[in-house]
Amino acid sequence: MQLNYPKLFQTQAYINGVFVDGDSGTFEVTNPYDGSVIAEVADCTPQQAEQAIQAAAEGFKVWSKYTAGKRSRILRKWYELQLEHADDLARLLTTEQGKPVAEAKGEIRYGASFVEWFAEEAKRIYGDTIPGHASDKRIVTIKQPIGVVAAITPWNFPSAMITRKVAPALASGCTVVIKPAELTPLSALALAQLAQEAGFPAGVLNIVTSNNAPEIGSVMTESKIVRKLSFTGSTKIGKLLMRQCADTVKRLSLELGGNAPFIVFDDADLEEAVSGAVAAKYRNAGQTCICANRIFVQSGIYDAFTEKFAAAVQKQKVGNGLDEGVVVGPMVEEKAVQFVEEVVADAKNKGGKVLTGGQRHGASEGLVYEPTVIIDARVEMSVFSEEIFGPIAPVFKFETEEDVIALANDTNYGLASYFYGRDYARIWRVAEALEYGMVGINTGMISTAVAPFGGIKESGFGREGSKYGIDDYVEIKYLCWGGVK
Ligand code: NAP
Repeated sequence: MQLNYPKLFQTQAYINGVFVDGDSGTFEVTNPYDGSVIAEVADCTPQQAEQAIQAAAEGFKVWSKYTAGKRSRILRKWYELQLEHADDLARLLTTEQGKPVAEAKGEIRYGASFVEWFAEEAKRIYGDTIPGHASDKRIVTIKQPIGVVAAITPWNFPSAMITRKVAPALASGCTVVIKPAELTPLSALALAQLAQEAGFPAGVLNIVTSNNAPEIGSVMTESKIVRKLSFTGSTKIGKLLMRQCADTVKRLSLELGGNAPFIVFDDADLEEAVSGAVAAKYRNAGQTCICANRIFVQSGIYDAFTEKFAAAVQKQKVGNGLDEGVVVGPMVEEKAVQFVEEVVADAKNKGGKVLTGGQRHGASEGLVYEPTVIIDARVEMSVFSEEIFGPIAPVFKFETEEDVIALANDTNYGLASYFYGRDYARIWRVAEALEYGMVGINTGMISTAVAPFGGIKESGFGREGSKYGIDDYVEIKYLCWGGVK
């Protein structure tokens, strides 16, 4: 792979400040666009995961004693290095994950922005003084880092899902052991290279690559040294890990799946709603947890919306993410495409009509699926209840505000939601009634480091980003001083 800075192409795991081979050998990483093998990456054993945890425990003794200012400066350096190498990091990301390179660069900047944000927040981890309950008592609270944190991250944001966890953890004085997704370990290892250059002490950040996630996950969840697990991925695996963490009563942050409603009321600005729906649906070929999963359009505007929406969707250039102008790249693997084929077939069987797309893009582009719009969608279809995780937009028709709130909330998930409309009283009513951790109002783009990202219900708990993000990595301790006479 052609990189301006070849050192970013790391294939060894990163444990205790050193790049090391995997004791189980290697596993292949492929380019989803053409299936070519791009790297042989270290396959770590459970023993190596334990070594990484030990290294993190030793690193904690050093890192947690640094002043906030010193931690902040090293984090800031890491942020600057990520921006300096954004082109290379984006190219690497596209090659292993598939998303178009412009979008990959957006992810690098977005991921880096969390490092910048928490470099600043590191200096503001304040406690309180509390009026005492007796005249000779004084009470203060302090916030202390939880300790060693394990992080398990998915393939759909190979870089940003790491920085979103690692930045607040390190800012608060914790140390981390990360297991990136088997499909996309290269972005994680490139971040480790830059972390080494930024000057984090040995053991503060460790990356354990493996193609046996359950094995490494068990080591992390069973360890008494690991005090917290932060997981982003599917609800199914999140529940499993939650159970596994019960025996050691670990702190948990779970960023899980979603089934986002995208609601368009009759009084919406049509053009804005169409462009918001395209943005909220087709980013990363529909493979984000906050992608619009079900589009609900009020009857008075339904035909106009679907016509304009299908026309806008058709205009998107599809193909190899490394090619100029492509906005929808390949899906990540064959089974993801097959799942999408199943939900489209199910929708068609139940009366859905495909306005555009509905098939793979071409014989030579196996994992590229055409951006698809399905109208006349109904609640009996699997697209209503399943997280589609692909470039398929089912459009449902609704009559009243009450109906659409009931439909939107009829899911176990509660991550992102969106709606378009102008009536200000309704905007408040609907925003309050949606059972979701995040609500986009007249916008399809809601992610930013300055806001608390996270879900409710079976989409998990914990918040990443914003002033609240640090809370997930600190313990509050109160000190009660007696005898003040
Ligand atoms: P996944 O299958 O749950 O995998 C996520 C991570 O968990 C990967 O690193 C995976 O490793 C690991 N893993 C799998 N089985 C494990 C086990 N038994 N023990 C320990 N670790 C295990 O999810 P995915 O398909 O990669 O990602 C898509 C899902 O993530 C979607 O549901 C999406 O909504 C969700 N997501 C949520 C957010 C959010 O912020 N809420 C953000 C992005 C994605 P391997 O890949 O190596 O198998």
